[in-house]
Amino acid sequence: MINVKDKKIIAYKNERTKKIAYNLRKLIVRAVMKEWGSLGEKQKNKSTLEYVRIENVRSDLYGALQTSICKCASCRHSDKDMEYNAPLKEWYCTQCAQEYRDYYRKEKAFYGDLYGKAYDDEDFYQTFM
Ligand SMILES: [Zn+2]
Repeated sequence: MINVKDKKIIAYKNERTKKIAYNLRKLIVRAVMKEWGSLGEKQKNKSTLEYVRIENVRSDLYGALQTSICKCASCRHSDKDMEYNAPLKEWYCTQCAQEYRDYYRKEKAFYGDLYGKAYDDEDFYQTFM
């Protein structure tokens, strides 16, 4: 379990810097998705071997975007303060991360140690604690 104090949070105080950073994130997401779509077009009428080769490139590209700070791994928004979840190696907006923490605390308070027996997602929620 990681202490919340150890979590890396990216929150821009300066409005101008915030706007630039958010626009850059959106630009990167758009560029990656454009390339991802373009690779999908290139897969058409290709041999199975070539199709799989391109699919691997697409998968790597998408995976890189999913683990980047460019969008929240949960709500997909780009224009929010972000918190790094080291165990999952993903960025979540601070709002989603807090909602996961609140939900888990509420469920844990209700179910106690039974929570782990009733649900198999406890490891996921604990990464936010
Ligand atoms: Zn989010």
